[in-house]
Amino acid sequence: MPLLDIRGVNVNFPFDPYPCQVDYMNKVIECLQKDVNGVLESPTGTGKTLCLLCSSLAWQESRKAQTELNKQVSVSHLLGSGADNLSAKSIEGIAKSLENSTGTSWGGSDFAVPKIIYASRTHSQLSQVIQELKRTAYNSVKVSVIGSRDQLCIHEQVKKEQNNTNKVHMCRAKVNARTCYYYNHLDDLKKNSEPRVMMGNVVDIEDLVGYGQKNKVCPYYMARELKSDADITFMPYNYLLDPKTRKAHGVELQGSVVIFDEAHNLEKICEDSSSFDLKPGDLATAIEEVTRLAEKMLEMYKSEQMSESQFDDPSAGAELPDFTVDDLLRLKATLVDLEEEIDKIDVPYNSKGITKPGMFMYELLAKANIVYGNKNIIVDTLDKIVSYVTADASGAGTGLSKGAGLSKITDILKIIFSQDLAPGSSLIEHQEKTARSYKVHLQREDIGKKKKQMDLWTNSSAAEKSGKTLSYWCFSPGHSMNDLKAHGIKCIVLTSGTLSPLSSFTAEMQVPFPVQLENPHVIQKHQVWVGTMRKGPDGTVLNSNFETRFNPSYQSSLGNCIVNLARVTPNGLLIFYPSYPVMEKCLEHWKETNIWTRIEQYKQIFVESRSKGVLNDLMNDFYSKINDPSLNGAIFIAVCRGKVSEGLDFSDINGRAVVITGLPYPPYLDPKVVLKMQYLDEMKGKQGFQSLSGKEWYKQQASRAVNQAIGRVIRHKEDFGAIILCDTRFANPDAVRQLPVWVRPHVNKYDAFGLALKDVMVFFKTAEKMMPAPKPPKRSVSSSSHGAYFMPTITRSGHAGPSGIQPAHAVMQHVPSLKHRGESVSNDKLREQYQSAGRSASSSSQKSLFSALDHSEKHQEERLPTSPLPSLQQSSTSGALRKQQSKKKIVIKKRASESAPIIQESTEVSSKVSMSHLNSAESYIAEVKSTLSGDSYKMFSRALVEYKKTEDIDKVIEVLATLFTDDTAKHHLFAKFYRFVRAKHKEHFHIMCQELTGLATGYKAEDTVNKKRLQDNIACHGIID
Ligand code: SF4
Repeated sequence: MPLLDIRGVNVNFPFDPYPCQVDYMNKVIECLQKDVNGVLESPTGTGKTLCLLCSSLAWQESRKAQTELNKQVSVSHLLGSGADNLSAKSIEGIAKSLENSTGTSWGGSDFAVPKIIYASRTHSQLSQVIQELKRTAYNSVKVSVIGSRDQLCIHEQVKKEQNNTNKVHMCRAKVNARTCYYYNHLDDLKKNSEPRVMMGNVVDIEDLVGYGQKNKVCPYYMARELKSDADITFMPYNYLLDPKTRKAHGVELQGSVVIFDEAHNLEKICEDSSSFDLKPGDLATAIEEVTRLAEKMLEMYKSEQMSESQFDDPSAGAELPDFTVDDLLRLKATLVDLEEEIDKIDVPYNSKGITKPGMFMYELLAKANIVYGNKNIIVDTLDKIVSYVTADASGAGTGLSKGAGLSKITDILKIIFSQDLAPGSSLIEHQEKTARSYKVHLQREDIGKKKKQMDLWTNSSAAEKSGKTLSYWCFSPGHSMNDLKAHGIKCIVLTSGTLSPLSSFTAEMQVPFPVQLENPHVIQKHQVWVGTMRKGPDGTVLNSNFETRFNPSYQSSLGNCIVNLARVTPNGLLIFYPSYPVMEKCLEHWKETNIWTRIEQYKQIFVESRSKGVLNDLMNDFYSKINDPSLNGAIFIAVCRGKVSEGLDFSDINGRAVVITGLPYPPYLDPKVVLKMQYLDEMKGKQGFQSLSGKEWYKQQASRAVNQAIGRVIRHKEDFGAIILCDTRFANPDAVRQLPVWVRPHVNKYDAFGLALKDVMVFFKTAEKMMPAPKPPKRSVSSSSHGAYFMPTITRSGHAGPSGIQPAHAVMQHVPSLKHRGESVSNDKLREQYQSAGRSASSSSQKSLFSALDHSEKHQEERLPTSPLPSLQQSSTSGALRKQQSKKKIVIKKRASESAPIIQESTEVSSKVSMSHLNSAESYIAEVKSTLSGDSYKMFSRALVEYKKTEDIDKVIEVLATLFTDDTAKHHLFAKFYRFVRAKHKEHFHIMCQELTGLATGYKAEDTVNKKRLQDNIACHGIID
């Protein structure tokens, strides 16, 4: 691996770097050496992640060396002996060189080596970065990764809970009561070994979950342990930006280097994480929850259940609340006061609402007696109540829900009072400073719409309450950045493939970014073509502005452009619209006017749906059409700022051209957009506030969204593609200036469509000749693809999906065999796994179950005459297996001292037992099959095969829990599985079954004895086999 000297730091890089990679690393190191912030743009495919890791970790190594030298010299001085084995001259030489590379003076008293915090948008992206790290020379640094209980919890009951807040409280209750086996076991193991020694250095979420499941320790608390000695800690943005989450996870910022990767949407994430909308239903639900809980507690006080003696007796079973009825009544009075104060605010009907300055929020809360002085008491009480309510899995605490309303109130108070008052500072100044980043907006709730959105659990009078939505919107991402800075971080590095226009970005952040970089691409001129098209084929001006975007003549002309581009573009073609309404109206017009059919002559059309749940299937279908050699590729039509434009990868043949049909300005009438512009105009020019005007911000938002969409196509150094800007406004010099720096030099402006089309054709012809054939394309949207630049950013855990499919996601997350749910397990594969499993089988019950599964498959095949699989082989396999079983013979010899045989088993008996077991297994399989849907049954059979191979009982329990615990009528199928579990897993299975279904399994201690060992024991006692 080449060792590069970059600004005096030795960087171990895996290959000879491109000049733009050296430039990038140079800038990263400059930030670290000078303790200044940097904003670095480098297009996708330029190896940004690798450069970021290698340069920052190389600098950290120098800092470690310097610290070590400092320590040694200090100790030597203290001992008065001069540094061991080092002459004063050589110490000076080394010290100077280290000083040069770290940017930190030698000889200081600060021995702490700065830690690196590496944040990205999603865990899926962080996983890719950790994989990249594993392939570098820095793969022995100590890594930790922070995840939520949603990703890391392996407790069977807790991880089934859908609501994340409830999950947190359920876990905390179990930890406090020491009733989580995994937590307790970790605690025990820690007495004998360091978590780092147990886990190794570089760990990912999957590693943690895998280790936790195998060793029965809690991965969540293991991750927290690993954080203490980590050189680099990975976490999603929200863990870093949200003060309450940061505190909950013990994230230490002092002296750390903070890197934000994929930072193109960071301003919005910063703003959103500091904002909230309080709906009238939220407050009413919270009041109802606290009322019901108070009533319930009073009833319990009165009844014998909560008699004094029971309070004194912890063994009585009921968990005692950590708050009193008085606390509940006081809290209720506060919430009612707040509700009344909100009701008093006059918001005209049929208006877009009213806006107040940020300080209004503090004034409003003060009227309900929620102030800085008592906010900790209120938040603590709320936390305790929510913990109490959620710890009771039945939600009996309130009888209404698991504290969702109270949880919401807790969260919003934590946002409003997120920054503590500095000692000695004035309260009013502190509040004014915080409130400067905010506006308060009140709007009447659209009751009709709200009713539609009601969840089942909110089906109460509280949820039906009409009223106003109180919004507290943060308009300054600088609020979060300043908060980070206030915690004494060393520097912030923001980086992404698309950050331009940089001016908008840095102005919004409100902290200085002295180091900036806009890297060129690593591709050559013949790999990219960029053209702005002023007119369509019929000469109509292409302009998607407010006045013309719904004109039929414009829509037709644009459609005719696409017909032609579909004809000349090889493989995948992407089209981005400014918004859903514009896209939907235009596609409607194309369908009415036959343009749609004409496009489909060349390529099948896929359209991004507003519903997120269907995206994976849609993408997989699109990829399959692209890879079908009998077709001429496919078209994907999507919107700027949508899921496709912001995260998906269309490398190589998946996307050879991208068409942008207009400038995606934010919705002008959206109150949030209006207020953001107003806010910027108000703040512009104020002392210490560098920012854009509202109008500049508005325009730059459109450019940023365009650049993000453009970035989908050329994804690596051997990729090529065309960028076609189909709106006359793109030819404006100002618009060209807002494009990424690597795109600008290639822009060709066309007045006539024909000329542009000819050039597009020539470009593809040339590029196809000059560029190597792409590697085998990706065929599906999957989290297991390799390579940092070819990954779609659809999250593995399916956060984008509808909440209704969460349980399956949770299982998928922990069960690798289920990750490719779309792939059906072929009968061949199943049989192959079955056969090999049969050969190595050691338990007859296992054989029986697999035989039964096999029988079941066989019967299915027999019912399907078209199946290409002959059942012969399968029958003979089962037959052979049975033969083997029938050959097994245990002859029991009498011991000399005994008058009668202990056990007598003949061939026939053995065979009969085996067959009866098989029959019972068959009937079990038949029942499972008739109970489950086709997909669920596949899941079941796949889990069996997996259990056979890996012996991972927890994984099979997870699948059984998913399949059989949603309905009490299926619980017995869970319990019946007991007989097929390996002896060593019986006890664990029995406990889990009771916990998950409440059913007994028939467990007996002797079941846990392995039959083989039992036979051996018997043989040892004079019985021969
Ligand atoms: S301690 Fe760990 S395993 Fe136990 S409930 Fe909490 S997160 Fe889950």
